[in-house]
Amino acid sequence: MNNFAYKKATDVNHAVSLLGEGEDHKIIAGGTNIVDLLKYFITEADTIVDINKVPGITDLTELDNGGVRIGALMTNADTAYHPLIEEKYPLLSKAILAGASPQIRNMATNGGNLLQRTRCYYFYDINTPCNKREPGSGCSAIEGYNRIHAILGQSDKCIAVFPSDMCVALAALEAVVQVTGPEGERTIEFADFHKLPGDTPELDNNLKNGEIITGIDFPDKGFHNNYSYLKLRDRASYSFALVSVATGLNLDNGVIKEARIALGGVAHKPWRVIAAEDFLVDKEPNVENFGAAADLILAGATAFEHNSFKIDLAKKAIVRNCMMALDPSSQRPGAKPSL
Ligand code: SF4
Repeated sequence: MNNFAYKKATDVNHAVSLLGEGEDHKIIAGGTNIVDLLKYFITEADTIVDINKVPGITDLTELDNGGVRIGALMTNADTAYHPLIEEKYPLLSKAILAGASPQIRNMATNGGNLLQRTRCYYFYDINTPCNKREPGSGCSAIEGYNRIHAILGQSDKCIAVFPSDMCVALAALEAVVQVTGPEGERTIEFADFHKLPGDTPELDNNLKNGEIITGIDFPDKGFHNNYSYLKLRDRASYSFALVSVATGLNLDNGVIKEARIALGGVAHKPWRVIAAEDFLVDKEPNVENFGAAADLILAGATAFEHNSFKIDLAKKAIVRNCMMALDPSSQRPGAKPSL
């Protein structure tokens, strides 16, 4: 870890001002990722700006439009167990609780969840080339061991995946990210928040310099009657997704009226294909139709030497999760979906 200055922000504008004082000024909130990144020299900082005492961004607020805003500094645990989230947005609760460990969820904040870095092994190994850590140095994963890497949206510069579970649900729920920066406040649709690697894999998202996340909004619609989150991973807990799926369905008389399907663990950002969701409208919710939607979602998927299994796994996960969404009681631990 390099030496750095440590400053405490007293409010949002103070945090923005401290952040804008230098390029290598980094924010710390829960610290569950940034501390590792600093300790292992994956990232460096001149100054760490501690926002933990910033008021006004720690709570859940009900919005006039029937939706909800969760503060950037609210912890993942407090969010997942908040009665309103459990009742109205159980998909979000389920996704958050699939991630990390109870100890980490008690520390990790909602804003930090969006900003966590990839868990590509080479990104964390400073002795190997990595375009995300050191632009222009090359990508060790493309010709290396790439079992956990992307099957969609990759570039010839980076094939990393974004590791969050929470963000997969946020994509399906069409959340909106509230940010404040040197030019004031603005909102970013969740679909536009994270970016694909393209030629700039060092950038994970579309935040501008000096901007910080203050909150995340959800519309009124929470898909609380028919939802499911399925995470497939190497261990039953404390492991990142090989493939995850968040599904929300609106059904009427046994017919799908609206579908949301987002994938995690497959790309540099949560993956949604609107054409696949539109395909399901006015269709019966069955294995055949969900399978056809999965084919649309995975169209163009390409694999590397060690991760071709993910394409088939993703298709099966989509179908299984959509079937589970028909019966949310399948979300209980140990319950089996009716396939
Ligand atoms: Fe680095 Fe991305 Fe390649 Fe991993 S996949 S080594 S993060 S450039």
